[in-house]
Amino acid sequence: MTKIKEIFKSIQGEGPFVGYKQLFVRFCKCNLTCKYCDTDFNIADSKEYSVEELAEIINKAKDCHSVSFTGGEPLLEKDFLEKLFPKINLPIYLETNGTLYQTLEELIDYITYISADIKLPSCSGNKELWNEHEKFFEIASKKALFAKAVFEENITEFEIERMCNIAKKYNIELILQPMMRGKISTVDSAFMEKVLDSCLIKYKRVRLIPQVHKFIDVI
Ligand code: SF4
Repeated sequence: MTKIKEIFKSIQGEGPFVGYKQLFVRFCKCNLTCKYCDTDFNIADSKEYSVEELAEIINKAKDCHSVSFTGGEPLLEKDFLEKLFPKINLPIYLETNGTLYQTLEELIDYITYISADIKLPSCSGNKELWNEHEKFFEIASKKALFAKAVFEENITEFEIERMCNIAKKYNIELILQPMMRGKISTVDSAFMEKVLDSCLIKYKRVRLIPQVHKFIDVI
């Protein structure tokens, strides 16, 4: 059994899979404390599910492109997921903060798509996580993978260099996501373009995609 915050069908609003219908399974815990986090970690309204119960719900979601495991940080649920994943018929899409590389290594064979964050200290307020990200992407690159970095106007040249280097090393798309407050971007459009251009000088597979679900009013 494990506590799950919510299970719902919706439309993916971030990254290159924008617009796909997914079943979202949201877990309650995280190992980071990003200052822009909008996840509700109150477990009072979470519900406990067994592996069998959750697998049944997921396998019925045949209208969905994939099942998105999100959070919080789904990889904190290793013991539960290693029993659940073999029972799932839908492609598994993992939304992760890109730090728990040891757990990823144990589960990766079951996962089809990985959306992995690169946490920029300037925006997330976390300590530098470059070493964790490097180890994570090394393992994750065996799968369909992209990197996502939330940024603000205080992004540094060093951060641009490091995140582009990670994406380049594994030849994956780097998605720049301006930080939003509700439906409003905290980054003005001229600065967004400047950051995109700075990245494109270093690496070509970079795109700027805001959180689309906020504009179409879905969760
Ligand atoms: S990694 Fe995600 S869920 Fe965890 S604190 Fe950061 S934004 Fe919130």
